[in-house]
Parts: sequence; C-alpha cells; structure tokens
Amino acid sequence: MESAVVIGAGVGGLCAGARLASAGLDVTLVERLPHVGGRWSTREIDGFLLPTGAFLIAMDDPLADTFEELGIEFPVRAIEERTVYLVDGELVGTGERGGLRSLVTAASEADGSDAETVMTAIRGALSGEVPASSQPLPDWLAQVGAGPQVVAALHALTQAFMALNAEEVTAEAFFDYLRATAGRGRHGIPPQGSVQLAENLASHVEACGGRVLRGRKVDQLLERDGRVTGALLIDGEKLEADVVVSNIGVHETRSLLPADQAASLPGPAPTELVPAPGMVTFVASREPYYDHPAVVVTGTRAICLVSTPTLVAPELAPDGWHYTETISTFRSSLDATEPKVERERHFADMDDLLPGWREDAELLKTSMYRGPWPVYRSWPGHDPQERFPLPGLALVGDAVKPHGWPGTGASAETARIVVGQLLG
Ligand SMILES: Cc1cc2nc3c(=O)[nH]c(=O)nc-3n(C[C@H](O)[C@H](O)[C@H](O)COP(=O)(O)OP(=O)(O)OC[C@H]3O[C@@H](n4cnc5c(N)ncnc54)[C@H](O)[C@@H]3O)c2cc1C
Repeated sequence: MESAVVIGAGVGGLCAGARLASAGLDVTLVERLPHVGGRWSTREIDGFLLPTGAFLIAMDDPLADTFEELGIEFPVRAIEERTVYLVDGELVGTGERGGLRSLVTAASEADGSDAETVMTAIRGALSGEVPASSQPLPDWLAQVGAGPQVVAALHALTQAFMALNAEEVTAEAFFDYLRATAGRGRHGIPPQGSVQLAENLASHVEACGGRVLRGRKVDQLLERDGRVTGALLIDGEKLEADVVVSNIGVHETRSLLPADQAASLPGPAPTELVPAPGMVTFVASREPYYDHPAVVVTGTRAICLVSTPTLVAPELAPDGWHYTETISTFRSSLDATEPKVERERHFADMDDLLPGWREDAELLKTSMYRGPWPVYRSWPGHDPQERFPLPGLALVGDAVKPHGWPGTGASAETARIVVGQLLG
C-alpha cells in the first residue's frame, strides 16, 4: 500500500493522516472548510478564542498517545485540580482519587440512599461480578438502591461525558465508559485553542511529504469493480489512492457512493445511527463565576457542565477577561426539532448557575450541535464497530468509536485501530 486519501481533517482524519504519513504513505488530506480540526478547532470572536466543539483535552488517552508516539508537540496545559461537582448548591471536591465515590456520597446524603450499597454494586458491575445489563442506567441504579439524587448525579455524568441523558444510556455502556477511562482523567486546556493541535498534526502530514487541501470538498467516491479507488472533488479534481479513509461519518460517506454501492454498504441502517445533540453558550465576564475550570452540575433542567477555560489559559481571552462555557443535552437526544425550547431550558439554568449574567456579562455565542455537526455522530454504546465497509474504504472518527471511549480520544483511537489494520 503506497497512497491514501483522507476525507475530513477532524481529529480522526488528522490522526489517521499523520499515522499513515509517518509510515511512509503518500497522503492527501482533504478538508471542505478553510481550517483544520472540525469539531476540535477554534474560532475567534471579539478577541476570545472559542472552541468549535471539544475544549477539555484528556492528557492520558489515545489522542495524547498519538502525539507522543509520532513526536508531535502537544501544547495542552494541565488542569491541576480534579473536576468538581455541584450537588444541591454545594461544590463537592473529588480530591486525588475517588471522584465517583464523592459524588455518590454527596448525592445519597441528599436523598437518604446508602452510598456504600450503591458503590458496592458499581464496583461489582465494573469487575463483572454484578451484571450490568442493557437496561437504562436509572433503572439499574434504582434496582441497586440508588435514590433520585444519586440518579440525578450520574445523569449529569452521562450528559457531560457521553452527551446523552441517563435514561438513554444502558448500564452496560456506562460501565464500558467507566472502565475505559479508569485511572485516567487528567485533562488540560490548549492555551492557543485546539486548532493549534490540529495544525500540528497537519504540519506533520506535510513534513512527511503529504498534502493538506483546505477549502476543498469531496463530492464522490471513485469506485471500480466494487473497490473504492479514490475521491472526486467538487472542483473536478480526481484523487486516486490505494485506500480512502473517511472521517465524515457513515451517512455522509454513504452519500458519496453511487446508489447501488451505498445500498450495499454494510453497517447499521441510517435510522439506527443517531447523533447525540447538545447546546453550548459562551459568556464573557470580568470575573469568573466559579473558581474551578470544570464544574459538573447536577439536578438542573438541562446544563451539565460549566467550564471556565480562561482560569487555566488566560491567553484565550483579552486581558482582564474570562469566558464561561455552559453545556447541555436536549430533553431527548433522539429529537432535535425544538431548538427554541432547548434554548429556554438552557437559559433558565444559566440564570440559576451564573447569577446576574444577563446584566453583567456579554453573551458571545450560542451554538446548537445537531444533525451533521453534533456532539457525537453516534450515541455512545450504539456505535457501529465495522470500520472497513467496502474494499479500499475505511472509516474513522466518532461515528465508529470504540465502546467506552469518549470525545477526541475515541476518534484518535479509531485512527490507531484502522491504520494498524491497514498496515497489517
Ligand atoms: C459542544 C461540544 C463539546 C465537546 N466537548 C468535548 C471535550 O471537551 N472533550 C472531548 O474529547 N470531546 C469533546 N467533544 C467531542 C469531540 O469534539 C468530537 O467527538 C470529535 O471532535 C469528533 O471528531 P471527528 O474527527 O470524528 O469529526 P469532525 O470533527 O466532525 O471532522 C470531520 C471533518 O470532515 C470535514 N468534512 C465533512 N464533509 C466533507 C467532505 N465532503 N469533504 C471534505 N471534508 C469534509 C468537516 O468539515 C470536518 O472538519 C465535544 C463536541 C461538541 C460538539
């Protein structure tokens, strides 16, 4: 195998391109936008560097490993404190270890459930001694003695890290997530924005002799005798290659194929592969609302996470300013049809969590993540694991993430798996 075309310069496509280029393949990476990174990039608004998606970068997961393995600079500043939780109006610190225990203990004090019983069941599920079924997480928790506040607390966790409401997560998927991230959880903030990380990967592709085409869109996949042989760009240029790696999602890849090939593309039917939506606001203020860069909030209408990246990286804002990011899931992650209602729920939570923001702060941006630009391209726990749907074609990115892995690390892991198999 000598050449590869990679469609999409999100984290999955960039990691795949960088790995393939490092292995000596002639790589052409095609990105429809003028900048790289996709939902792991940065936009400037009024001097504030705001993320296009991911903002908390794990420092001990497959993404960080990719940079280290390939010898690429990884400009991420560690968050020294662990994530804290807001339970019943009180901030609960998690100390060095035992974040989940602190959360369950604080929540069970509020609802009278027995934290030890619940934690024993959780430990049992993690070790495989207690069955973690495909029933919704709240049902499993109720069965092992958790009260409503404990369920609400773990709902905030599934929202913040799996982008789903607790009732949309199976107990199995939740414990897969806990297992994949066990012993990890060091996070950081890129002081120049995630775009700098994306640029570093793109530069690596170029330094290895590859090309990164920006502002160029793939219109069709080329195919001969049932094998994908390259890509046709919207401007008419044809790129032939031994393998095409698609980072744009299963539906979108399907739409680049002729009808008969698209129909025969294995994997779940489009209706079964549903993206996880969400909403985000960015608020600029002179003083931060919280002293912690990442606060998981429980018992709200919609918001699950309040982050103040400028506490760690003041470079992201003009001098003397901070910004706060608030993140929510939708009432139903299946239905993204009422953005106005979602906005009202989110803003009502902001009134509770950021007192006085309407008078004292400036709303920089509100973003809905849904449809082709969601939080995740498939619900965690429902991701297809088939990454080679046709000869000559491979899939990477968060549409095909391995079970358990969240966020950018999951997409980086798909690139590691796919490139490993391609190189045999
Ligand atoms: C609000 C929000 C917050 C998040 N927070 C975090 C977090 O804190 N930590 C974390 O780890 N993860 C987080 N995530 C998840 C993370 O951002 C995504 O899982 C990850 O960035 C997905 O990357 P990807 O490579 O799969 O896809 P994408 O980033 O979507 O990349 C696909 C690329 O393909 C390009 N493209 C599409 N069609 C074509 C075409 N026809 N031709 C050429 N190019 C094309 C797109 O422009 C895009 O650049 C968050 C996501 C959101 C939305």
